Amino acid sequence: MSPRARRLLPRCYNRALARLFGSEPMHHVSSLCGARLRGWLFCLLVCAPVFAQQPGEALCGRCGTTGKQEFDVDRALAVEHEHGEQWEVLFCSEAIESKNMGLDWIVCPHCRTASLQELAQTEWDAIAETNRVWLEERRRMERLAEFDEVVYLETTHFILSWNLSKMKVDRKTLRMHESAHLFARRFEEFYAEFQAITRVVDEDNMRNKHFVFAFEEGAQALAVGPTYAGLSHSGTVKRTGGADKDSVIVTWRQKSEHPSEGDFHRHLIHNLTHQLTSVYRNTSWFTPGQFGLAPPWLNDDYGWFDAGLAHWFERRVDGRSETYCFREQDVGSRWGGGDWHRNVWKAVMAEEWPSFALLLNKPTQSLTAREHQFCWSWVDFLLSRNAEGTAQAIKLAKMETPTREILREVYRLSMLSFEEDWAEWVKQAYAPSNKDPGFDPRRDDDQGAPQRR
Ligand SMILES: [Zn+2]
Ligand SMILES: [Zn+2]
Ligand SMILES: [Zn+2]
Repeated sequence: MSPRARRLLPRCYNRALARLFGSEPMHHVSSLCGARLRGWLFCLLVCAPVFAQQPGEALCGRCGTTGKQEFDVDRALAVEHEHGEQWEVLFCSEAIESKNMGLDWIVCPHCRTASLQELAQTEWDAIAETNRVWLEERRRMERLAEFDEVVYLETTHFILSWNLSKMKVDRKTLRMHESAHLFARRFEEFYAEFQAITRVVDEDNMRNKHFVFAFEEGAQALAVGPTYAGLSHSGTVKRTGGADKDSVIVTWRQKSEHPSEGDFHRHLIHNLTHQLTSVYRNTSWFTPGQFGLAPPWLNDDYGWFDAGLAHWFERRVDGRSETYCFREQDVGSRWGGGDWHRNVWKAVMAEEWPSFALLLNKPTQSLTAREHQFCWSWVDFLLSRNAEGTAQAIKLAKMETPTREILREVYRLSMLSFEEDWAEWVKQAYAPSNKDPGFDPRRDDDQGAPQRR
């Protein structure tokens, strides 16, 4: 076996395994197929020795007696190997439809070791079948609207149906396939960051896979929204929960709302924050007969927390907040300038801020543009006290715990002194003399302030 072939083999198996066990298809067609394929893969993995010829069989010099030969993959498919500590690329339509499905090996065509050639062929066929079923499932969407081209991409935590042609990023124009991978990576990086800051863990999520449908045209989003998000609206729509508990965002890039790709990135991070807080719900938290917050959105009963968190993570992209979800009020109006630290600081110095106690029970959709900024600042303050407690705070909210108890239990704050404590903190933390205002959990480490990626 050549050193390169030896290096490639485990990767092939890891990917095949991930494909079979990691995918959570929306309509479960692929998982049925996965169940069928698990049988042979199990055999393949446990029937040792897997990569040795049968007794009496010839060695093959062409493939180093592995049944596989190296295959040169198009350089444009290097992105298929992008990964982080907790994620990797599982499927990509561009790779699947390329020569040899983007695999870096082929079955040794004139192999002298028939048993290994057969094993390699079985593996290749299984990957081809899994890919076919996966792609067929994704393409169901295309019946709903007109599309010239769509790139489908699945990573560990996201499934993108991507139809954004040519995108300018850092003076480079990216093709649809490139921008799909860029955004998938950004989503995965956000996912890891969200979990690191809040201490939300996959084990407590209803779903660990999020569907993102992103289109060029509003008409496409309008046509796809009802089927996948259960909603239709000229802007971004989303859902979680319901019978299948799927997490779905359907959006399109309105050039007036998102002139740059960075604006669209920020917008999606805001929306994904709503998704991640929403799916954080483990049935084992509840006693039989107890349901807690249903549907699992924070927006109706904990609007300040819902909006505050979404703005807080949105602002980490590039220090701006521009997203007001369609159910959120004041889509058109704004309060103060774009510098939220300054707006809130000025209000606090003038002792003019909305009452937290009165705002507590407002659903997100009733918050004004001014109130949104204070919700963000309250969350900023709470995170500065105990960012790691965020998961616990969301969990308590899902159990319909009154806010005053959440404040006491997680942040050691009383309702009576909350506003005073927060105002004192704002006076220092947001002071114009402070060059690095507010709270950034990464500030203490050597990564410095958040950077756009
Ligand atoms: Zn790809
Ligand atoms: Zn061979
Ligand atoms: Zn929102």
